[in-house]
Amino acid sequence: YEEEMTLGQIAELCYHITSTFLKLQIASTTELTRNTQEAVLRTRSYFLNDIFTQWDPLNSEISFAYNGGKDCQVLLLLYLSALWEHYMLGICKSQYDQAYHNFPLKKLPTVFINSNETFPALESFISMTVNRYHLSLYEDKKYGCSSDMASEFERYLELNPSTKAIVIGVRHTDPFGEKLKTIQMTDSNWPQFIRLQPLLEWNLANVWSFLLYSGEPICPLYRYGYTSLGGVNDTIPNPYLKREVVSDEDKTFKFQFELENSVGYSPENVTKRWETQDPNLIELGEQYLPGWYLLEDFKERAGRIKKC
Ligand code: ATP
Repeated sequence: YEEEMTLGQIAELCYHITSTFLKLQIASTTELTRNTQEAVLRTRSYFLNDIFTQWDPLNSEISFAYNGGKDCQVLLLLYLSALWEHYMLGICKSQYDQAYHNFPLKKLPTVFINSNETFPALESFISMTVNRYHLSLYEDKKYGCSSDMASEFERYLELNPSTKAIVIGVRHTDPFGEKLKTIQMTDSNWPQFIRLQPLLEWNLANVWSFLLYSGEPICPLYRYGYTSLGGVNDTIPNPYLKREVVSDEDKTFKFQFELENSVGYSPENVTKRWETQDPNLIELGEQYLPGWYLLEDFKERAGRIKKC
């Protein structure tokens, strides 16, 4: 992942990822992949038909809530893909030839509330993806943390007053996620902004299906048994993935199709996508299956423990 792409180029790559995923032949795909294709189509439509028609993604009205987790990474790929489509549709309407247009954004406004002690592997993954996806990452830590999320967002809005809406990778199966809507205002006790949540209907298996297909780097913690990432002191690998407790049926990898057809796939390079030098993580790898072996949404947060 050394070669540096511009934001326009990575957005175009993301468009390539979604469009080739949608073209995978029905006959050869599994039901799970087909279900993920429908989820991709739905999220794409939310962005193009419901969101970008109300808030302009090319002039900093929209920010993205990013913490390096799998859900926001999937949504980021879909967001960039839709951004590319939105830009190209604009060009088609223009009287000037494509050669006279330049992708108008250099960086994507992004907010990261980093109040937990973060895993070193997640820190490195976030730095790498900040470069790869050209995120202009606002990190609250740099400003000294206050006590709660709401005040952190309030400060972000004060510093970035053009922000009207923030994209969030929450899903219905997350705690308190059941009744959320794709587009909604924040609660009255929160700083006021529009929450854009176009990933609500996705389930855990859809997230892995698309992320493994994408060919994009994946945070190494997921490779070593983690399924949902909190801070160092309240997150352990998912106990349901401990090799000794997993049944033989659940030891079968369910995303072979996605992986073998993934963008830029080569058998030698595939593990580079989640490579790490962290010896503690590598040791865990002996004991736990990768996060993508767990498909039941209700078990996703079993590795999130209460703070002492
Ligand atoms: P995982 O569940 O594997 O950790 P995730 O972090 O993407 O993946 P959630 O923890 O369910 O998903 O969080 C839902 C969404 O809320 C994220 O996708 C992100 O958009 C937003 N979010 C959560 N925590 C933060 C944070 N600390 N800073 C910024 N955004 C956040």
